[in-house]
Amino acid sequence: MAELVRQITYRGVSHQPGTPTLEMRDISVAYAAGANGVTTQRGTQYALQAVSFKVEAGERIAVVGPNGAGKSTLFKIIVGTLKPSQGEVHIFGQGPTGHICIAYVPQRSQIDWSFPVTVEDVVMMGRVGRIGFFRWPRRQDWQIVRASLERVRALHLAKKQIGELSGGQQQRVFIARALAQEAELLLLDEPLTGLDVPSQEAIFEVLDGLRPDGVTVLVATHDLNLAAERFDRVMLLNHQMVAFGSGTAVLTPENLLAAYGGHMHRLSETDLLLTDTCCEGHDG
Ligand code: ADP
Ligand code: MG
Repeated sequence: MAELVRQITYRGVSHQPGTPTLEMRDISVAYAAGANGVTTQRGTQYALQAVSFKVEAGERIAVVGPNGAGKSTLFKIIVGTLKPSQGEVHIFGQGPTGHICIAYVPQRSQIDWSFPVTVEDVVMMGRVGRIGFFRWPRRQDWQIVRASLERVRALHLAKKQIGELSGGQQQRVFIARALAQEAELLLLDEPLTGLDVPSQEAIFEVLDGLRPDGVTVLVATHDLNLAAERFDRVMLLNHQMVAFGSGTAVLTPENLLAAYGGHMHRLSETDLLLTDTCCEGHDG
């Protein structure tokens, strides 16, 4: 009984003062052949190998790298749905499980869009960690849901089925869910892929609005121009950490050739052509 009460009243792990929002130390992940989400040290094909980095509060980070580089794997390790084969993850100084401050929006291809649920219900799901599973939302929770939808300019969509929305609208609704959750660390896996420029801009506008709240945002993207122009730092992955720093320091011809290998062609001293085949419908 005591255990049950503890679970019902549980509201997420506390944060260690003075620690980075996110720290990975020497993280390696190897998927077992054929197994979904199971890791092993025996398979030597590493999805991630010896990855270490720190992210401070309020930073906006672009995570780039070719298909299969380990971007989605990195996010799953941070949210704790996947256990690393080796290494440590710290979020506000604590292990990755039990945090209600992390919001994760998976790649579009990993979400079942036919699930019959309205937009406002999707956003209310963000409140579950705060309300607790066995209680009903209060008036204040519905107010937060409406305010979150308003912030992403999707309040008019509240009663629609999530599957009816355009890709850009769906991404904004999932960001609204993160707002309703009052997330401090937001992980967006390829939210810009397949969106037109105005829809991409709408998402950046929402992300800009999170800056004053000190929300830390990691965005996996294939768009190297956006990565360079719209983010504080760029993480270039290809199973290993190729480089992590300012866009100009990271996105050099040498680093890009190291990360993209055969998909990156040097046209001249200054021009590179990327022929990475990307991404809609890719299940990675
Ligand atoms: P990205 O998101 O950068 O495209 P992923 O993290 O999806 O990369 O994949 C990294 C590597 O791990 C790839 O080689 C991919 O084939 C492999 N992988 C990803 N998910 C699984 C899984 N569930 N089972 C086995 N291998 C996987
Ligand atoms: Mg991916």
